[in-house]
Amino acid sequence: MAATLFEKICSGEIPADIVYQDDLCVCFRDISPQAPEHLLLVPRKPIPRLSEAGKEDAALLGHMMLAVGRIARTLHLDEGGFRLVINNGHDAGEAVPHLHMHLLAGRKLEWPPG
Ligand code: C5P
Repeated sequence: MAATLFEKICSGEIPADIVYQDDLCVCFRDISPQAPEHLLLVPRKPIPRLSEAGKEDAALLGHMMLAVGRIARTLHLDEGGFRLVINNGHDAGEAVPHLHMHLLAGRKLEWPPG
């Protein structure tokens, strides 16, 4: 299987504005930001989408949730508030088949989302 775009970002093959990385996940600024702060957090493991994660991924998903909370605190994004979004599948607008969490912050976010 060819490496996904986000695998290539994780390996450094494709450049990105990385704000955090560890042995399990990488967080970088979205190339087309939808808010003043728009980060993507991706696992190094190329899980295509959340609905394809398995029991064996429980620790990884927990690690990512804690990491994104820490990143938000470090960048002071928790002060105004932030939103996490995972687009799973066609109707949700998933464009890159590699699990990723969007973190949006820095403006008042509408609800319900479009
Ligand atoms: O959830 P979805 O699959 O639509 O999100 C993919 C995201 O990846 C988009 O927000 C897009 O701007 C971002 N992207 C990026 N860097 C790239 C290609 C896509 O940040 N090189």
